[in-house]
Amino acid sequence: MKIAHVIIDRMARGLDRAWSYVIPEGMDIRVGHRVHVPFGKGETLGIVTAVYEYGTPDSAADVVLKPVLNVVDPVPVLSAVMIELGMWMAEEYLCFPIQAYKAMLPRNIRLRPFSAPTQELCQVVGQRQGRPSKRQQLWDILAERGPLLKEELLREMPEMRQVLRDLVKEGTVVINRVDSASPSFPVVKGHRSPFTLNEEQMHAVTTIVEAAPGSKWLLEGITGSGKTEVYLQIIETIVQQGQQALVLVPEIALTPQTVRRFQSRFGQAVGLWHSSLTDSERAKTWQAVRDGHLAIVVGVRSAIFLPFRDLGLIVLDEEHESTYKQEEHPRYHTRDVAFWLADKTGTKVVLGSATPSLETAFYARQGLIGWIRLTRRIGTRTLPPVEIIDMREELQEGNHSIFSRALQQALTRALDRGEQGILFLNRRGYASFVMCRDCGQAVQCPHCSVTLTYHQDQNKLMCHYCFYTIDPPTACPHCGSRRIRYFGAGTERIVEEVMKLWPGTRVLRADRDTLSSRHSYYQLYDDFVNRRADVLVGTQMIAKGMDFPHVSVVGIVAADVALHLPDFRRSERTFQLLVQASGRTGRGDLPGVVIVQAYEPEHFAIQSAATHGYDDFYNQEIQYRRELGYPPFGNLWLLEVADASEQKAKETIHRIFEKVTGLMEMGIEVLGPAPAPLPKVRGRFRYHVLLKGAKNPRIMAVLSEIERDELSCSITVDPYYML
Ligand code: ADP
Ligand code: ZN
Ligand code: ZN
Repeated sequence: MKIAHVIIDRMARGLDRAWSYVIPEGMDIRVGHRVHVPFGKGETLGIVTAVYEYGTPDSAADVVLKPVLNVVDPVPVLSAVMIELGMWMAEEYLCFPIQAYKAMLPRNIRLRPFSAPTQELCQVVGQRQGRPSKRQQLWDILAERGPLLKEELLREMPEMRQVLRDLVKEGTVVINRVDSASPSFPVVKGHRSPFTLNEEQMHAVTTIVEAAPGSKWLLEGITGSGKTEVYLQIIETIVQQGQQALVLVPEIALTPQTVRRFQSRFGQAVGLWHSSLTDSERAKTWQAVRDGHLAIVVGVRSAIFLPFRDLGLIVLDEEHESTYKQEEHPRYHTRDVAFWLADKTGTKVVLGSATPSLETAFYARQGLIGWIRLTRRIGTRTLPPVEIIDMREELQEGNHSIFSRALQQALTRALDRGEQGILFLNRRGYASFVMCRDCGQAVQCPHCSVTLTYHQDQNKLMCHYCFYTIDPPTACPHCGSRRIRYFGAGTERIVEEVMKLWPGTRVLRADRDTLSSRHSYYQLYDDFVNRRADVLVGTQMIAKGMDFPHVSVVGIVAADVALHLPDFRRSERTFQLLVQASGRTGRGDLPGVVIVQAYEPEHFAIQSAATHGYDDFYNQEIQYRRELGYPPFGNLWLLEVADASEQKAKETIHRIFEKVTGLMEMGIEVLGPAPAPLPKVRGRFRYHVLLKGAKNPRIMAVLSEIERDELSCSITVDPYYML
């Protein structure tokens, strides 16, 4: 008698363990199958996580077992590796296993039975007839190349569709449906690379191609150093060896050029995976990956769960981007999952960035992962000079505009010459704190050395760690200046200012409000690159991977606003934004200049961005992380309560606080309880407690108990945003 362990589709604490059921005689059930099982008074859907013979030690607790009712799909929907990954995720990210499994399956595969993978194989029968016609031509091709997949054949020769039908009718070709148990990739007929790699690129490609299975790499290369070309060439080898490759990008809509490069190199062998796909497109791509019809996928983070048959390589492009962290359950980080897959399945992982996350840079420097650097830009192009403007001086000298004189001059010159400019605004950090325009200081908590956050609804400044609350001051506590205010200048303000200073200028605005759909993003890119506008004003969403050859000025309006956020990654993010934004110019034949406006220009994140010095930045930032025990030196756990009743939310967070105070003895720092920086969201009051320290079994036990008992509490491991 065989027993199946089944995780049922109920998200309730206590029900999230694997339940045992008897597999009826003759029912084919394997790990990863979906099944219906009796549960309580009714029945429920579940996923099989283990199958074993009754009587083995595992089954000791199985007393009287009910049978599985039926199997949903002819083949398992998840591989054994994915089942194991789900278990790991449940533990690591404190979620229900079923949440992990659901995240791995596209919606309509979740809802419907799923077909077995089959392929249509075209094969000749009989003898050559020898007549000069299209029919004969196709017959000859099939005879010579052996049985070919219909899909692949028609992809290669779409004009032969009718001819193939005729041959089948004639009886000289047959099409068989076969179970595609073994991988069969389309022949990747890509265009070969038009480039000869430079020495650094060549070294990168050979090193990674020849590396052991499961190896992990940081490919650290300045913008324009040819990282994408390196990915392309490694992938060429991977697919030639019959393996699949996955290229992850932070956001498909924001990286149209990268996507196009993969498509033009590998054509139909490339599938896309992103949030604008319809349910049926999703299901189709999912199956095509499983059946081996797609050799390469370019996609966003959830593509990491696609059912690859034999994944040889995972690339995380712009690996530092926060979109690789999922904010909802299961709150996984794509990099962690990629590393897990590397260890488990031998897939190689390449993390690419000009500005790696501190974690990745640290692992590379410690030798925990491989480290390859590309230090030169392709061709003769150089990184643009960066000029830092101290906005306090501008004020002292009577310039009250949000644009410094240097930026005004540079933009005027560019516009006169018919060149383009980009103005960046760092959206994070606006209007949430109070800053002095004279000395550049933000108002701080006297107890916690974090910036106080402005709460508009109550017109108060509040510390999110200790609750310290004051009325917004009318004069600067540092220098007494009255030019103190909460900081705010949205993209609209900047557009207005541009129109005022340069009447008649054609301005495009790009932020979350103006760009809601993928279409409008392409439109915007197209409009700007084709010079239907002179100035582009936008937030960080336009700072990534786009080439604008006619841009000769990049202005960063207030580079340091985000340095005051209560966020331990604030310096890292500011540095990354500045470097990425600078990379938007100097890409064509124009030399280009970058003007960085700041109120606290001496900050190392700004200084090192100006010299494009990642090492400088890293060396200072890593010291700060080490001293304060932030990642990569310790973990963070954000315990957050959200409740429609403020009273209840407070009670709960205090109860949770009591449960974690014991951890302080073992060196875990417990911060809070305090209201979340966004204290009320969608009518729910939010409070949090932050834990900081080295991960150990005791902490994990306490946390999983809290996760189990406190229904309104959610726990995020190493949160990206604490807002
Ligand atoms: P990155 O991804 O590091 O920003 P890319 O791979 O996009 O760099 O390369 C920058 C530009 O240089 C692209 O236009 C690319 O087509 C071109 N390029 C890359 N490698 C080479 C090479 N070996 N020879 C000539 N041009 C190259
Ligand atoms: Zn001041
Ligand atoms: Zn405080």
